[in-house]
Amino acid sequence: MERKSFIREEKYKNINDSVKKIIEKYTEKIPVDIEKIVSESGVEFLYKPLAVNVSGKIEKDGDKYKIIVNDFHHPHRQRFTLAHEYAHYLLHKDLIGDGITDDGLYRAEKSMGFFGEIAANRLAAKILMPVELINKLADEVNNIAGIAEKLNVSLLALKIRLGIANR
Ligand SMILES: [Zn+2]
Repeated sequence: MERKSFIREEKYKNINDSVKKIIEKYTEKIPVDIEKIVSESGVEFLYKPLAVNVSGKIEKDGDKYKIIVNDFHHPHRQRFTLAHEYAHYLLHKDLIGDGITDDGLYRAEKSMGFFGEIAANRLAAKILMPVELINKLADEVNNIAGIAEKLNVSLLALKIRLGIANR
């Protein structure tokens, strides 16, 4: 039977092949294992309480990068934050400097710029909500909330991903 496709897109443009392999390995199963993706890419991460208006940060420590996720936030939010900071690492490491902090709307205090944040959000969404998994779930679950639940993401994040809601 032919599957309806919600969205089509180019996969992980400008990302090197070894990282692409890691991402592909952990985006086959539902829900996506973002922690495995990040750790196998050689990036450390931890969860701890941060100021309420901070989602997370990424810091440079020697030649290693470390992501800190605000564990005050909802688990869906924490997953998105981890993916967002990881996306900064993949897309524009050079702009991270010693570290950047993202506020509640995923705006880093310095240098990342509006388009940098949009790009990080888009890549985070692609990783957490791969089109193949959305299409597969659409065959099994007949409502968007159910698909979001299976993907372990917020309903709003999925709606934004599908282009039926704005931030
Ligand atoms: Zn950011």
